[in-house]
Amino acid sequence: MKANVRRRPLFRTTGPGFLSDETQVRCGRERITLGLFTVIQDVYQRPLRNLRLSVTDRCNLRCAYCMPEQEYVWLPKEDLLQFEEIETLVDLFLDLGVDKVRLTGGEPLLRRDLAVLVRGLAAKARIHDLALTTNGVLLADNAQALKDAGLHRLTVSLDTLHHDRFARLARFDELDRVMKGIDTAARLFGGLKIDTVVIRGVNDDELVDLIEFGRARNAEVRFIEYMDVGGATQWSMDRVVSKMQMLAAITERYGPPTPIVEDSSAPARRYRLEDGTVFGIIASTTEPFCADCDRSRLTADGMWYLCLYATQGTDLRRVLRSGAAPAEIASLIRSVWERRRDRGAEDRLAGGARSPLISLDRLRRDPHLEMHTRGG
Ligand code: SAM
Ligand code: SF4
Ligand code: SF4
Repeated sequence: MKANVRRRPLFRTTGPGFLSDETQVRCGRERITLGLFTVIQDVYQRPLRNLRLSVTDRCNLRCAYCMPEQEYVWLPKEDLLQFEEIETLVDLFLDLGVDKVRLTGGEPLLRRDLAVLVRGLAAKARIHDLALTTNGVLLADNAQALKDAGLHRLTVSLDTLHHDRFARLARFDELDRVMKGIDTAARLFGGLKIDTVVIRGVNDDELVDLIEFGRARNAEVRFIEYMDVGGATQWSMDRVVSKMQMLAAITERYGPPTPIVEDSSAPARRYRLEDGTVFGIIASTTEPFCADCDRSRLTADGMWYLCLYATQGTDLRRVLRSGAAPAEIASLIRSVWERRRDRGAEDRLAGGARSPLISLDRLRRDPHLEMHTRGG
């Protein structure tokens, strides 16, 4: 067996006791079970398991932390992968160990006939977790079709419960439509997750209100530290509310939350309040979790990135459209992953004084560096 290849879990468990220890190994913080399939690993023994598929770079909001500019350079339409091309690439990723797929964007619900793609992906038994991240604006109208197509679960981004703040943060006040989308989807899917980017002086006084809002809808809220990625040209360290500061604010209202101990490579650290309500914090900026990172990202035009902070990617569209055989593309993916050394957020933290990652001029020259192209 090659040094960077090991057998992939046939089953996996997120809780203790599902299968005996003898048949399980540790993989990051997660226990996996040795079984039939191949898993490829990077230089730091991180498996390739999690694929974030951006289906469009376009968006109907302009969040200040993601798309703060007036004008953007969009990916050429003819470069966007067709659904069949996406499925071909996904099949190759599944062969190499991926079992979690998340659809994202831009705003994924802007991609025409998205439910058709969801149906195709949902039919792939090797995808154990098929999720979608949306800003929620178009969700009320699409939730039923997504559910019918077989989507497993949803995350909705929601940063504030105030109309005026929503308009300031996202340039348009779509709060009512997002709330309707959350209510509809929570009913159809039996719950969902809500992601909130917390920014000092903008919404850091809303943590408790958002937890209460989520509790009433069976929605687990996850607070995300503001990141200095891609198009976040207005980022500065003093606007970041750290995990510790968020916990302090939540403790003030509810008492100390109990950390939930779990085996998972998921980025959120989860906590339980005394009444049982669970919330999460994604401390990407102050406590990066690169050591466990099994994620990679495929843009809508087929560029494959190994890290949110990576400035270079692999052009899988070009290889696919050149007529390469599936085995050739799989071999390329494997060799790129096995050389992966990315630890973008850890490197940024170690680097000390920070400013936005990429200049506006450079973003304009290469839209692939944008968060809304990468998919977050
Ligand atoms: N448009 C969809 C949405 O907003 O949910 C999906 C794409 S968006 C790029 C995915 C996630 O990235 C969102 O939850 C968003 O809040 C997050 N995000 C974007 N820029 C960020 C930043 N600078 N720091 C932290 N999270 C960010
Ligand atoms: Fe659009 Fe999502 Fe970026 Fe906001 S975070 S601008 S909704 S892509
Ligand atoms: Fe993974 Fe890169 Fe994020 Fe670290 S910074 S967790 S390596 S995507």
